[in-house]
Parts: sequence; structure tokens; C-alpha cells
Amino acid sequence: MFDTLSDRLTSVLKNLRGKGRLSEADIDATCREIRIALLEADVALPVVRTFIAHIKERAKGTEVSQALNPAQQVVKIVNEELVGILGGETRRLNLAKTPPTVIMLAGLQGSGKTTLAGKLARWLKEQGHAPLLVACDLQRPNAVTQLQVVGDRAGVPVFAPEPGNGVGDPVSVARKSVEQAKHAQHDVVVIDTAGRLGIDEELMRQAADIRDAVRPDETLFVVDAMIGQDAVTTAEAFRDGVGFTGVVLTKLDGDARGGAALSVRHVTGQPILFASNGEQLTDFDVFHPDRMASRILGMGDVLTLIEQAEQAFDAKQAEQTAVKIGSGELTLEDFLEQMLAVRKMGPLANLLGMLPGAGQMKDQLAQLDEKHLDRVQAIIRGMTPAERTDPKMINASRRQRIARGSGVAVSEVNDLVNRFFEARKMMAQMAGRFGL
Ligand code: GDP
Repeated sequence: MFDTLSDRLTSVLKNLRGKGRLSEADIDATCREIRIALLEADVALPVVRTFIAHIKERAKGTEVSQALNPAQQVVKIVNEELVGILGGETRRLNLAKTPPTVIMLAGLQGSGKTTLAGKLARWLKEQGHAPLLVACDLQRPNAVTQLQVVGDRAGVPVFAPEPGNGVGDPVSVARKSVEQAKHAQHDVVVIDTAGRLGIDEELMRQAADIRDAVRPDETLFVVDAMIGQDAVTTAEAFRDGVGFTGVVLTKLDGDARGGAALSVRHVTGQPILFASNGEQLTDFDVFHPDRMASRILGMGDVLTLIEQAEQAFDAKQAEQTAVKIGSGELTLEDFLEQMLAVRKMGPLANLLGMLPGAGQMKDQLAQLDEKHLDRVQAIIRGMTPAERTDPKMINASRRQRIARGSGVAVSEVNDLVNRFFEARKMMAQMAGRFGL
């Protein structure tokens, strides 16, 4: 669904890579690009405005992180703002203290309510509940049968008016269903209501009457994410006409631009609880703003990596190390500390696996020898503090002792010490060239 938006944002943010500092002009240009990308994805204008204003303010502000380069900082800010627009924390379903919990579904015809009722029922059952589906869409021909079909598939009973009584009254069906749930020990009631092709008074009144009759714990507004800007107008109409406590996005598997998904929370002030992404009962999930944001940013788990880098990073130590690199005084002790800091972030293969495009690198990753790093660590640990500080003193007999102590061959100790000297020399030269 978010492919185009995702591609655009990724390339905008990629352009920042390699910049040592970001000027105001860089930030303005980036914000302009992000703005266009969002508008093209059909995100509502007020949402775009707020989003861009926040990013600008934060990117130009004093938010300085020594662990991240400027491009990473912008990625982090964009991600956090995106999570915020999508609702921040994952919002869980509110369950009633005294069962049954009543969940009412509202939305336009074709938005996916009936399908969703089945998905929700199946999911609730999986979570250990005993749901009851209720057919209150008595206008659309076949709506009751359709609910019975999804109910069957989900293995959940359906409460519906007796056939042959003409068109039943949805309000009384809803009321009776709650009684039936109490009677038959169903702890959750999911009420499917009628939708129309457009918003109209009668539809709203009926939904409001059902709401008053059963006083739902959750009223979920079901909206087709493919309808673009109309989603916002519809959401506002339902908010004013019926009121709702949460949103369910459907058809996220479609190839539309997805602006609805990004706008509806901000415009209505109500959280997105679930997302539907297909016609099967299992194509359904709890909506996690953070996961959706990183999916939109198309950055694999780069964001997790950024977080971990921040956590593992010790600014003071890094500065001291940089000075030592420049003056060629790096010791094996520093080397060990750096290595431990990187390893604190998790196994190397995992770290690399989080990088975008790492999928194709699987074979190389598999060969990455974690054990080799363990051995390097063991060798350095087998040295005395004096040896780590001044590796030049590590003569042949010391090498033999270190090898014995850390359970490796002498050649491995030789290798490490020699490579360390080479690396130290090279780093000092590079530091000199870059004026560090
Ligand atoms: P209702 O009128 O609101 O009850 O909508 P329905 O549940 O009957 O759904 C309308 C159509 O959308 C049906 O053909 C469903 O199979 C389809 N549909 C519902 N949810 C999804 C979804 O998440 N993805 C896709 N691709 N189709 C869906």
C-alpha cells in the first residue's frame, strides 16, 4: 500500500547521507520533498502541515545526539513524528469490567465491516474469548447470510433475527443479542451494522439508536484505506453522527496511496486499533504505529539499529578514543572496549541483518564468524593491563603465555598483535588526513 510513499521518503532521506552537517537549506529542501511525497500519497493537508512543522522545528532545534550523524537524526525525527501521527502507543481493545464487552462496528457499505466482524471474532477466539457475532445489517440483501458464512469460518455463532419475520428491527436485535450473550456466557459481542454507499441521516440515526440501546464499550469506525481523501470526510461524519472510540483500517493490501491511513487518527483524534489486509480471516492484525512507521520508511530495522547505537554509545569514551586514534596512541584496551560496545548491540549477524538490503547478503552473514570475535576478545583478556596499554612489550615469551592462557595458537596472538599495529598506524594516518 505504501510502496510509492515509501520509495519517495527513502530516497529523500538517502540524499542526506554522507553530509557532515545539515544547513537550514538542507532541512528546508528535505521538508519540501517530504511534503510533496505525503501530498501525493493523499495525506490530508492539515496532517501534512503539522507533520512538516514538527520535523522542521526539531531538525533545526537543539536536538543533538553525538551517537548519530545528521542524516540519522533526521531519519529518527521523521520516524518519531510518523509514529506520533499514527497514534503513538499501540491502543489495545477496552474490555468491559463486567462482561459482555460490546463492540459495535460502523462504516460505509463496502468498507469491509462484515468481513472484519469475522476476522475480529476469530482473533478474539484465539485470545481465549467466547465471542458472539450479531447481524444488525438488515437492509442489505444477503448481509445476514454473509455474516453467517464468516461466522462459520471463524467458528463463532451468529445472532440474527428469525428468518421469515420480514425485516427485523436492528435496535431490538442488538438489545436481544446482549441478553443472549449474558445467557450463553459469551464475553464479547460484535455487532455488525448497516452501511450505505454514502453518508446519510437515516444511516447515522440507526447507528446512533443501536449505540444508545447497547451502550458499546467500543464503537469501531471501519474505513477502507483505498478511498483516499474521502476517508477523512467520512470519518468526520461518523464522528459527529455516531461517535467512535477507535478506527479499523481495511484493504491495506490494496495498491492505493494510503493517505487515509496516515490522516484518520490525526483528523478524528481517535486511535487506530486494527488493520485488515486481505480477504482471508487471518489477514488481520493489531495496529502498531511504530511498526507501520518503519514499514512506511522502508528502512528494515535501521531504526532499531539507531536506537541501539544510542544506547550503547558512550560519548566521553568515544571522544577519548578519537583523540588517541589521531595521536597513534590507541591501545588494545581501547580496542577491546570498542569491540565490547559494538557487541553490546547484539550479535553481528543480527546487526547487519537489520540493514536494508541485507536480505541478499544472507550467505555472507552466515559466514560471519562470531567465534573469531570471541577469540580476539579472549586473547586481549589474556593480556596483562600493561601489555594492553603498551602492546610493543608483547615479546615472544609473552605471546606464548597469552596463547596458553586464552587457549589459542601462538600464531593467532601474533596475527592479532601485528594487525593491531597496522590498523593503528593506518587510522592515525587517516585521522591526520581528515584533520581530526
Ligand atoms: P461491508 O459492506 O462493510 O460489510 O463490507 P464487506 O465486508 O462485505 O466487504 C466488502 C468487500 O471488500 C468484500 O468483497 C470483501 O471481501 C472485501 N474486503 C474486506 N476487507 C478487505 C481487505 O482487508 N482487503 C481486501 N483486499 N478486500 C477486503
